[in-house]
Amino acid sequence: MRRKLAAGNWKMNGTKGNLAQIEALASAFPDPACDVLICPPATLVAAAAALPDRRSVRIGGQDCHTGVAGAHTGDVSAAMLADAGATHVILGHSERRADHGETDALVRAKTDAAHAAGLIAVVCVGETEADRDAGRTLDVVAVQVTGSVPDTATAANTVIAYEPVWAIGTGRTPTLEQIAEVHDFLRAQLVARFDQGSDISLLYGGSVKPGNAAEIFAVSNVDGALVGGASLKAEDFGPIVAAL
Ligand code: 13P
Repeated sequence: MRRKLAAGNWKMNGTKGNLAQIEALASAFPDPACDVLICPPATLVAAAAALPDRRSVRIGGQDCHTGVAGAHTGDVSAAMLADAGATHVILGHSERRADHGETDALVRAKTDAAHAAGLIAVVCVGETEADRDAGRTLDVVAVQVTGSVPDTATAANTVIAYEPVWAIGTGRTPTLEQIAEVHDFLRAQLVARFDQGSDISLLYGGSVKPGNAAEIFAVSNVDGALVGGASLKAEDFGPIVAAL
């Protein structure tokens, strides 16, 4: 059985005052029907994990280094995230691929580091608008999944998030048919390559909000969502959790 996951990516948003949103979410869903994950900025991971009323809400990082420790000013290792109380880490988000030139090979090495630290890697893939217009969507995501996900991926240590770059923060989403096409394709790729490929959860991300979550969650091979803007407030993220 694939696990359903509602994941929030706060990106570079949030200070200590925002931690109350996590407790508000936790108290609204004392016994959620899906896994619930919040990935705050690195400065808040330890405090979020230590919240007295976090209940079943899991806490994750948004990136990690490939190494465990060393002379890498400004970086955070997977082992450090795990030590701070994180259970997950987002890797290969399109914003990191674009802002920091992250390649599939680097994302794969980070995923290996996450697994070594006992973290669940949420590996992101997705096409640009130019890719889609050129009819290259499936080719692009296939190359990204092949290159970014190590051969040792299992249903227990890896989640894949399909996030079309053009749908992130834009209010635009693919049609349900387009989401189904990519998710069905990714499922086939995972099944062909991994023993547990049919059990690896596949999230959709990009302008998910309370108003469209239920219809997206009804699409085949959509096992949850990776949510940006609508994860910042419990009043927005709550209905998304409820829809899953
Ligand atoms: P939005 O939900 O703000 O479009 O962001 C999606 C995203 O990038 C989550 O990782």
